[in-house]
Amino acid sequence: MGVVEFEDVFVKYETYTGSVLALRGITFSLGEGETILVVGPSGSGKTTLLRVILGLVQPMHGTVRVFGMEPRDGKTGLEIRRRIGYLTQEGKMIPELTVWENIIFYAKGRGRKVDENRVRELARELNVEAVLNKHPNQLSGGELKRAELLMVLSDEPELLLLDEPTSMLDAENSKVVIDLLSTFKGSVPMIVTSHDPRLVEVSNRILEVTGGVVRKPEGTAPLSLKD
Ligand code: ADP
Ligand code: ADP
Repeated sequence: MGVVEFEDVFVKYETYTGSVLALRGITFSLGEGETILVVGPSGSGKTTLLRVILGLVQPMHGTVRVFGMEPRDGKTGLEIRRRIGYLTQEGKMIPELTVWENIIFYAKGRGRKVDENRVRELARELNVEAVLNKHPNQLSGGELKRAELLMVLSDEPELLLLDEPTSMLDAENSKVVIDLLSTFKGSVPMIVTSHDPRLVEVSNRILEVTGGVVRKPEGTAPLSLKD
């Protein structure tokens, strides 16, 4: 049994102007210790796919299992979300708290513990040790992105969902992030969405999504990372 299993998943959004089929028959499974890189143009359904795993969006058709559970009712969704580290594109730090306070607050809200030494070690590896006592709005875009990643990793999640982890980062800091994610490869299962071809390094498989459909069956086909 995979950590994440999708079977013929369809997602429809209703909007003022009509409905959008964001996912159209997605089937895949993520095994223990595996990393899947999800690529595809903007609007192809990558973020939606992550939100379905988190139970934030309900499919109109198909089956989803995460840790063997269906993220359907509120309680299961919560249980699933507290075991997942989700890096969003927009970030989720609270401006009134420092980075360090955010990390503690985040873990507490999830009913999880933080190992201070481990967080300091991760902060060093991500090159954000110097900003732990600053507020999010005092950081550069790149520092904030790495601080957000630190927060998401800080309570040792069982599954990582990372939405564009290297966007906003220059080449040097992208490398910092990719090197760190490489150390998680094989131990923590991950789904990473990205346009960054360097992330291929940390992935076992590539899922190419176009218009809500997996365009090529996983993995072996040559990569297309056009936006
Ligand atoms: P990204 O593409 O960076 O992952 P989002 O997931 O926020 O960004 O949005 C992707 C696309 O979905 C964008 O084109 C955005 O305009 C559209 N979108 C997001 N939220 C809504 C919404 N509530 N209603 C209509 N369209 C939306
Ligand atoms: P990606 O992450 O690949 O950019 P998304 O999953 O954000 O793609 O979006 C997939 C499709 O669903 C797009 O057509 C987008 O406009 C639409 N969409 C995304 N979020 C919403 C939303 N909250 N309401 C309505 N439409 C949305």
